[in-house]
Amino acid sequence: MKLAPYFADMHIHIGRDIYDQPVKITGSKKLTLTNILKEASRNKGIHLIGVIDSQAPAVQEEIKQLISSGEAHELVDGGIRFEEVTLILGSEIEIYDEFCQGPLHVLCYFPTLLKIEKFTEWLTTKMKNVTLSSQRYYGTAKELQYKVKELEGIFIPAHVFTPFKSLYGKGVHQSLTEIFDPDLIDGIELGLSSDTDMADQIKELHNYTYLTNSDAHSLAKIAREYQMIEMKEVTFKEFYWALHHVKGRRVIVNYGMNPKLGKYYSTVCDKCLTAAQKDVNKCPECGSTKIIKGVFDRIQELADTNSKVKDRPPYVHQVPLEYLPKLGPKTYNKLLARFGTEMDVIHHASLEELKEIVSETLAQMIIQMREGNLSIKAGGGGKYGRVK
Ligand SMILES: [Zn+2]
Ligand SMILES: [Zn+2]
Repeated sequence: MKLAPYFADMHIHIGRDIYDQPVKITGSKKLTLTNILKEASRNKGIHLIGVIDSQAPAVQEEIKQLISSGEAHELVDGGIRFEEVTLILGSEIEIYDEFCQGPLHVLCYFPTLLKIEKFTEWLTTKMKNVTLSSQRYYGTAKELQYKVKELEGIFIPAHVFTPFKSLYGKGVHQSLTEIFDPDLIDGIELGLSSDTDMADQIKELHNYTYLTNSDAHSLAKIAREYQMIEMKEVTFKEFYWALHHVKGRRVIVNYGMNPKLGKYYSTVCDKCLTAAQKDVNKCPECGSTKIIKGVFDRIQELADTNSKVKDRPPYVHQVPLEYLPKLGPKTYNKLLARFGTEMDVIHHASLEELKEIVSETLAQMIIQMREGNLSIKAGGGGKYGRVK
């Protein structure tokens, strides 16, 4: 077995980017479903990708066109194949029911077009506008879980630690059982500002598979985070099996940014971004009372165990190539022309081979990144960290 595909997931952000406003990016860089699939398949080397605006009728229409032109086809075990990549139909939903302390995001994935169309139909009775991304849903979290399961879908709380719109950031005080049925959760999306070791300090997460997804809003950021999955075929069913460790299917490695690169790692002042202690309510620098609690401090509040989880896959700190200083679009294209996809550059090119294409410094940096050894300046308060 071991097809070991790389899975990443992303937003199209319909409404905001494509249809309502004049789009700045044009041609092949425009954020359409077809361009996402091409980028994932041809440049990134990602084999499984979730697009979480697939509840929108416009996206479903585009998929149907790809199918009728013969460019894509639905797989018997779920998912839609386009060239080398399988699309998983998803939807990000904002929940804010009577048990939530604040709005939070969840991801729902479905096996077939028919199932997600049924989901859209149901959502129109629960949501003001199903054509937009990440919209507020009017109903309880559990009701949504039951619907997703009725449609044979996958249910995953999204970027669970970010200060805004997440389960542990604003959604609950202590435990996910305050709002969810824990048995109907298929995995936990960590988000950019946390990693496995941080999340494993919370006992109730020990039963779940962690996902490191890119949450990309542009083609370049596809596979900013991703995972390697052991599966026999790249299908929805196998993905579901991997989340639940069925018949040897599983996530083998999570590849994610160093949490310090995420934009909510440290606690900082919202106004001037000065670092703050987690319990202060006034910025020491500018006096603003708006302090954004970082993911690191939030996890310290929730931490209730030191025990390690058996079988937890390793978490390797990485960044996409475009994050490396001195790696511009020209160099990026040269690397792809020589090695194939971004995954080939990040995982397979040797130092000697890299040196034929780029400077010694940059070649070393790519190898350091492969091993998770880049040095980082921490982000916070909505500002990304960076590679030093
Ligand atoms: Zn979200
Ligand atoms: Zn301040």
